[in-house]
Amino acid sequence: DHRFGRLRRRVGTTFGQSLLAIFRRGALSQDDWDELEETLLMADVGAATTDELLADLKARLKAEPDGDPRALLRAALLDVVDPSLDRSLALGAPGDGELHSAVVVGVNGVGKTTTVGKLARVLVAEDRTVVLGAADTFRAAAADQLETWGARVGVPVVRAHVDGADPASVAYEAADRARTDEAEVLLVDTAGRLQNKQGLMDELGKIVRVVSKVSPPQEVLLVLDATTGQNGLTQARVFGQVAPLTGVVLTKLDGTAKGGIVLAVQRELGVPVKFVGLGEGADDLAPFDPAGFVDSLLG
Ligand code: GDP
Repeated sequence: DHRFGRLRRRVGTTFGQSLLAIFRRGALSQDDWDELEETLLMADVGAATTDELLADLKARLKAEPDGDPRALLRAALLDVVDPSLDRSLALGAPGDGELHSAVVVGVNGVGKTTTVGKLARVLVAEDRTVVLGAADTFRAAAADQLETWGARVGVPVVRAHVDGADPASVAYEAADRARTDEAEVLLVDTAGRLQNKQGLMDELGKIVRVVSKVSPPQEVLLVLDATTGQNGLTQARVFGQVAPLTGVVLTKLDGTAKGGIVLAVQRELGVPVKFVGLGEGADDLAPFDPAGFVDSLLG
């Protein structure tokens, strides 16, 4: 994807390029391995994934002492991002005549509302009819923001009529509207106040249940901010308790050179990164392409 190329230009030296520079030194000393480890940890790859990656690299070097460093690294990194995972949106096929739904969850400020708008844009480009539900009723501005996206993309937005309305009732209304309109996809934006974990989980659980009455969500997408590093993994575990996560959208990858969080999310959660956010604009959402990503890291 050419957009990963743009990412590379924006962030300058990636951790992949740093790894490659160390690798090219040839016979690696313990200091070199320590430096590799430090580079991975600094890039938010996370301790567990770093250990696995280093073990994998050692094994590869042992098997192929004269192997091309770039090829060895590329293979090891690709192993972590696992190109075999299905990264398509499980929202049926255009024109299949059914309503499919997705609930988008994540902590406030990670880019949920923006992602819902961008996803709507992607779906509309596939000629699908979409309804958006603004179930983040905690923050009035969130519904306004979603309405702006709806107008921009040309899809209806169902929002609360009063402040502090029940998020689940808004989600239900949106699902009902989608059914009445014979829309193909319902995307539900949710609130993400992590301060009250139990309250949040109850609220999200209720949203998933009421939407299920109309169309069981085939996608529960977790939005993570790439710049928050390992915190994202902790968040992911909390949200994963509400409903099985089906995919991750990693936002703000344009704002960090620490792309390592992609590896950590992938390995430690076992949930595929399906899309990445590369900016604030409507077209700044790219399907995650494992090989393109690894190549962009290695430069
Ligand atoms: P929410 O609270 O999770 O719904 O977050 P918002 O959708 O309101 O986004 C928070 C801020 O992050 C906004 O200023 C967005 O424009 C910005 N944002 C969202 N996605 C991206 C991205 O991929 N890259 C960049 N640079 N900014 C983003």
